[in-house]
Amino acid sequence: MINLFLLGLPGAGKGTVSEQIVDKYHLTHISTGDMFREAMANETKVGLEAKSYIDKGDLVPDEVTARLVEERLGQPDIKEGYILDGFPRTIVQAELLEEITKKLNKPLTNVISLEVKEDTLVNRLSARFMCKKCGATYNKITKMPKVVGTCDRCGSHEFYQREDDKPEVVKNRLQVNEKMNTPLKDYYQKNGILSVVDGEQTPEKVFESVDAVLSK
Ligand code: AMP
Repeated sequence: MINLFLLGLPGAGKGTVSEQIVDKYHLTHISTGDMFREAMANETKVGLEAKSYIDKGDLVPDEVTARLVEERLGQPDIKEGYILDGFPRTIVQAELLEEITKKLNKPLTNVISLEVKEDTLVNRLSARFMCKKCGATYNKITKMPKVVGTCDRCGSHEFYQREDDKPEVVKNRLQVNEKMNTPLKDYYQKNGILSVVDGEQTPEKVFESVDAVLSK
């Protein structure tokens, strides 16, 4: 059983490598960012609560986020393990996660930190756009849809740029996240389950490195 936490700044490539891991290992991908975006689109209570934070690039409060994760991890479709993407982002969240996973008997087995320079991240995020219907992620420079104007995954023709990928917000978002990642890395280093992967490599090489860690 692999229960993985992928640690990395926005734009580090967590989404892309998650898709590759899911294909090979059949893990359930749990992205708190995706869950919040879905909740906002459906205007649920959590979505409305989260929106004011997300639109500014700030973090949603720990209790709201942890509740969302606990509900998701408790669902029965998680049989072969999970990938957490975007959670935990703080030490408090890491401690909450430990409690949650202990209760559910699904402890983390691996933490992989995907590391990319800030300049690369800013460039990647400002070129990023999403499918309006299914949320698939593309990039104007590195990952255009196979047929221009048509989503590879769902065939829709409508795309948008995430509010929090816009240049005025990206810098704040990166800074907020950077400050938080360092203590998290230390936390999992001490736990002995941390591996570091160079996220500047091509997507294929990134996956090879991640795969080498997971198949150990
Ligand atoms: P992401 O797609 O992971 O960049 O998440 C988008 C936004 O959702 C973040 O900028 C936060 O506002 C919010 N969010 C996602 N995950 C968390 C988390 N673990 N804790 C707090 N806020 C989060």
